[in-house]
Amino acid sequence: MTDSTDRQALRTWRREEDLPKRPAPLSMLRGARNRCPHCAQGRLFHRFLKVVPACESCGEELHHQRADDLPAYLVMFVTGHVVLSLIWSADGNGWSAMQHLMVWPALTVALSLGLLQPVKGAIVGLQWALRMHGFGKGPDGDDHPALKPHPDHQ
Ligand SMILES: [Zn+2]
Repeated sequence: MTDSTDRQALRTWRREEDLPKRPAPLSMLRGARNRCPHCAQGRLFHRFLKVVPACESCGEELHHQRADDLPAYLVMFVTGHVVLSLIWSADGNGWSAMQHLMVWPALTVALSLGLLQPVKGAIVGLQWALRMHGFGKGPDGDDHPALKPHPDHQ
């Protein structure tokens, strides 16, 4: 095969519809459970919100997956709606001001911290499933070795 034929074959193979499908809901569920969206065996985070460079089990590169501020916005949206609806529903229960001051800030912090990692994991799983590679311009960690660019063509 000539060099131009190789490039044409690689270009044809790299079309998005030729790539294996990645199930978004399953990938999001795996990410929310702190598992690799590809194999569900390795951990997704090595610190509270720091994504591992690569899966320790299957080697899938995850370093380029970024969720930016979306998890924080989603957690604030959910926490705000839950806490405010609980405050309004508890309005007439006779609690003192001190009881309100003890419960609602603690619930807000607990919900925010408890939801942040699963929400970020779900977003990283969605990005992985959609081959968004963290909004970057580089190639995704593709599933097939033939999809890796040849060193002469970089
Ligand atoms: Zn993995």
